[in-house]
Amino acid sequence: MITFNKPFITGKEAHYLYKAVDSGHLSGNGPFTRKCHSFFEEKWGFVKTLLTTSCTDALEMCTMLLEVQEGDEIIVPSYTFVSTALAFARQGAKIVFADSSPDHPGIDVDKIEALITSKTKAIVPVHYAGIACNMDKIMDMANRHNIFVVEDAAQAIDSYYTVVADNSPIGKKGDTLPLGSIGHLGCFSFHETKNIHCGEGGLLAINDPRFIKRAEIIWEKGTNRAEFFRGEVNKYGWKDTGSSFLPSELNASFLCAQLEELADIQTKRKKRWDKYYHGLIEWANGLNVQLPIIPDYATNNSHMFYMICPDQAFRDKIIQHTRNNNIQSIFHYLSLHKSEYYKNRYEGEDLRYADKYSEQLVRLPLYIELTDDQVQTIIDCILEFQP
Ligand SMILES: *Cc1c(COP(=O)(O)O)cnc(C)c1O
Repeated sequence: MITFNKPFITGKEAHYLYKAVDSGHLSGNGPFTRKCHSFFEEKWGFVKTLLTTSCTDALEMCTMLLEVQEGDEIIVPSYTFVSTALAFARQGAKIVFADSSPDHPGIDVDKIEALITSKTKAIVPVHYAGIACNMDKIMDMANRHNIFVVEDAAQAIDSYYTVVADNSPIGKKGDTLPLGSIGHLGCFSFHETKNIHCGEGGLLAINDPRFIKRAEIIWEKGTNRAEFFRGEVNKYGWKDTGSSFLPSELNASFLCAQLEELADIQTKRKKRWDKYYHGLIEWANGLNVQLPIIPDYATNNSHMFYMICPDQAFRDKIIQHTRNNNIQSIFHYLSLHKSEYYKNRYEGEDLRYADKYSEQLVRLPLYIELTDDQVQTIIDCILEFQP
């Protein structure tokens, strides 16, 4: 059986875990956490980063930083993982679901402006499959309406956006910016299904410096303990709201091992992604199956290989066909506006494209342990498929 996912282990994790155990510092905000923060800040130029226990937690920190409350409206794509909306719904905000684009599963940026009202507090674009949304348009809209942008970059580590607008609010035309660094806040996931992982983990990137001080307090249970650890104050206490968002050094040490191998991980993922693409494109064109489209302004971090089938019956049949051949392919994301939890509260229109991807998208296994031969086996299996 070729399983859908296997978390990648570089081989250095156990060594770093041992070092963390041996150091005696096991709680959060220790040397390995600082090493991770430095890595993100140096490699991608993030102003300030904080490791979290998940991307969901990083999103919850955003709701506290933005003081999201009942009556606020948050614009979120319907075709996404639950967490994108959950963190905001938990604060009592109204989730205003946006549709996906006709030609890719990401949010339809041109439909966002019509959803903005005087109550809109934030837009949460998701860089689906690590492929950027049009951030020029989103940031321009946000600036004009004075609303915040929280990037759900859970899948988007080491992926980039190239500025395309002439008078862009985010940089000069042609500038290349890392995803997660463009909105006021950006959230990443290190769940085992993501490119870089530590089992469960996440990161908050604080791009608007106004939020830095409070973010550190919210991260450390509402206290200024981080300042105290740096020797900036001689005692610490309860300052604000917050929770225990910081992961232990065990998770941070594991993540360090992965970060050191980032370049190699990305190269290997890309090799498998490219093999799928070249092996399947002709077949896909013949059957009206759509492979991922990478806009000129986006890079592909090879987080995911997906195909959009011409209809749901085709999609369900191809999943069955691969399973009959011992290959686990899957579909994902049921439109959130139709979810059991939210459907009774949803007041908006039908979201035709969100529903389309719910019904027609299929994902193929993509991970480093997948051998070249296994990728070929999967391609051959799909080429044999009779719809
Ligand atoms: C994985 C994922 C999350 C959640 O990440 P966790 O670290 O598991 O909390 C949120 N949003 C998107 C788009 C994701 O893919």
